[in-house]
Amino acid sequence: MALHKLTLRELSDTFGKGEVTAAEIVRAYTLRINQVEPKVKAYISQIKDAAMVQAEALDQKLKGWRRTMPLMGMPLAIKDNICTQGVLTTCASRMLATFVPPYDATAIARLRGQSYLLLGKTNLDEFAMGSSTENSAFGPSRNPWNLSAVPGGSSGGSAAAVAADECVAALGSDTGGSIRQPAACCGVVGLKPTYGRVSRYGLVAFASSLDQIGPITKDVADAAMLLNVIAGHDAWDSTSANLPVPDYTKALKKKDVKKLRIGVPREYFAEGLDPEVEQAVMAAVEELKTLGGEIKDVALPTTNAAVATYYLIATAEASSNLARYDGVKYGLRSKQNKTLLEMYMKTRQEGFGPEVKRRIMLGTYALSAGYYDAYYAKAQAARTLIRQDFEAAFCEVDLIVTPVMPTPAFKLGEKSEDPLQMYLSDIYTISVNLAGNPAISIPCGFSKTGLPIGLQLIGRPFEEETVLRGAYAYEQATDWHKKRSTVR
Ligand code: GLN
Repeated sequence: MALHKLTLRELSDTFGKGEVTAAEIVRAYTLRINQVEPKVKAYISQIKDAAMVQAEALDQKLKGWRRTMPLMGMPLAIKDNICTQGVLTTCASRMLATFVPPYDATAIARLRGQSYLLLGKTNLDEFAMGSSTENSAFGPSRNPWNLSAVPGGSSGGSAAAVAADECVAALGSDTGGSIRQPAACCGVVGLKPTYGRVSRYGLVAFASSLDQIGPITKDVADAAMLLNVIAGHDAWDSTSANLPVPDYTKALKKKDVKKLRIGVPREYFAEGLDPEVEQAVMAAVEELKTLGGEIKDVALPTTNAAVATYYLIATAEASSNLARYDGVKYGLRSKQNKTLLEMYMKTRQEGFGPEVKRRIMLGTYALSAGYYDAYYAKAQAARTLIRQDFEAAFCEVDLIVTPVMPTPAFKLGEKSEDPLQMYLSDIYTISVNLAGNPAISIPCGFSKTGLPIGLQLIGRPFEEETVLRGAYAYEQATDWHKKRSTVR
């Protein structure tokens, strides 16, 4: 049995029945990682040896006893901006190149509570700033479907690792699309939960009012399984919602979307959308109609302000959050400086890459006296309008369906010299973060050149179940999710 080809649900069942040991699982994944990782470069650090030690201990503990928790013995990869106690967490930045967190993020503590196995930490755009994983201080990851294309970003390492079968599932983070967008590029499933659904404690902050941790998986059922474990209130995150967590796998019982009203926002099908992507998404809308959904036009008129609004708010929050990297508290400190100010400046000059510096400057500018009202306050007002657009649309429909990316994955280097072009590729995902809603990306087709295309389903706040139900119904009716990259 090729263990690395199984989904999380299949592997968990197999393990639960005692048909395979944790050590065998780690061995299979070690082989697979050794085989493809030199090409894909999904990981920043691999800790397969530590995973093996854990696996053997787990097997020992389980001997003759086999009622396991769903994630027990499951080999996962974690985006390297999520703190893992005792395991290097770099944020793909020189600033944190040697940072070993003394604690686990809450999402990680919950996985650990089920005895999951950590295979390694995955690559990302530095501090999750980017849409291609090219902004990593450790070099880019590659798209398993085409090694000269980007895997998307910023959780590109996690998406590539799942797509290349280098882990059974992964966690990413999404501030403006960083889970959904790489999932779309790599032909896997990525779920951004509602803001507040999953604790942000231990997620290295980029833009605190937008950031969310979420699953990247091989299929929709796996996303539900993983969300079950990481979701829920956490006293360590004051923005986490104190609401009950349903069993998300129950949302998968229905294989249709009967009685669901599904909105298609015309603003998302305007200029700039690649015809192949448009065709694939419209075919998916037809499929949802066949499955019993009632398709309706909806309007999200403030869409044209989304990119500008996001890049003011996200950079403003980033400039504040990243002030902590000053050479004193964490990570890198530049040596042999004459004054304290020089130490601060050199540390930041050496520690941050160009995109992070650009964002700190943009954000600082937007927050500075005299410009605050013109930029930051205006962006906050626009954010409210964007949220109200979604609220109005969700009075008429239960789900909104859109593309994830305007184009399939682009070539490495194609947009890295032009930040504005890179920012524009976020147009379909960032409004969802500004509004706070949950959204999923699932595979819905391929370009002529064989690159995956993603479909986005957006739901009302805290209605992840509806999002999962719609996604699952579509997935069961199609076989895009069964196609695997051929990297070997
Ligand atoms: N691409 C967006 C950005 O660069 C979103 C990144 C993210 O979601 N972390 O900010």
